[in-house]
Amino acid sequence: MNDRIQNLRRRLEEPLLVSSPVNVRYLTGLVSSNAAVLVEPDRARLFTDFRYAEAARAVKGVELVELPRDLFARLAETLSGRIGFEAGHLTYARYETLAAGGLELVARRGLVEGLRAAKDEAELAAIRRGAAIANEIYERLAAERFVGRTERDLAWLIESSLHELGAQGLSFPVIVASGPTAALPHADPGERVIGEGETVIVDVGCVVEGYCSDCTRTFVTGELPEELARAYEVCLRAQEAGLTAVAPGADGVAVDRIARDVIDTAGLGERFGHGLGHGVGLEVHEQPWLNREFPSTLAPGNVVTVEPGIYLPGLGGVRIEDLVVVGVDGPEVLTTCTKELVTVH
Ligand code: ZN
Ligand code: ZN
Repeated sequence: MNDRIQNLRRRLEEPLLVSSPVNVRYLTGLVSSNAAVLVEPDRARLFTDFRYAEAARAVKGVELVELPRDLFARLAETLSGRIGFEAGHLTYARYETLAAGGLELVARRGLVEGLRAAKDEAELAAIRRGAAIANEIYERLAAERFVGRTERDLAWLIESSLHELGAQGLSFPVIVASGPTAALPHADPGERVIGEGETVIVDVGCVVEGYCSDCTRTFVTGELPEELARAYEVCLRAQEAGLTAVAPGADGVAVDRIARDVIDTAGLGERFGHGLGHGVGLEVHEQPWLNREFPSTLAPGNVVTVEPGIYLPGLGGVRIEDLVVVGVDGPEVLTTCTKELVTVH
């Protein structure tokens, strides 16, 4: 039996064709760029091609159907009746292929993603390991030389340290953003040489057993201009206010609001233009959201980030991001490296 497929089945009004590779992986454990699962009331079929068939044979609780590489053309020929599809994932070209086969297609959204939001113990264990690696990275960085080095050089040092500490990959390309570049929330590390008296935003996430982690700390290279020093203090207060609001049943929009109010009150509301946080799991951005734009309700087992930022164009920026498990006994903060201002040289 497969509990995840069973849980999904309970939410379905018609058979669902799961085609997102991440969702296929969640349901079956199969890592494949070309696979789909059809979940029906009495069975689940896993479709894939020769390249993945051997791995797919090991999947429990599904019937394996090996097909030629063009899976969707064959599915159009062999399936019939009313079938749900993942509207957020199936390409329009594949939709056309399936529709041409005479299937009655029903758009469904977020069904597997909703299940993925609540992590089980094994998933939490993988995420905790990823967060522990991030903690070690920030500790090592506190002893590194920053001034005179390029952002790219530091990013590479971080990437190789992640590998050394057992990470299997990156959740996203490492962000090292210094000086005026730190005013761009998602800057690519460039050839800029880090100077004195700047903030340096370092945002790192790694993959352990398929699961992502995500953490940001902001370092300083000596005495900061007054506005930036104040921005750090405000950002930290907002971050801590957001953290205390993370609880089962909490409304994501309200949690965002609590942190945002601190920044608004300090007169810096305009400088915090992104959401407070996001869920983390097989993908680095997934449900639930702590964001004014995407309503969510927190539940036990959710893993979310709390990451306010303040960006001052031309001057610099700060962001502080923790990774948190939503627990019945309060939030479990996984990224335990210090949030006090760390001065590097
Ligand atoms: Zn991040
Ligand atoms: Zn994040």
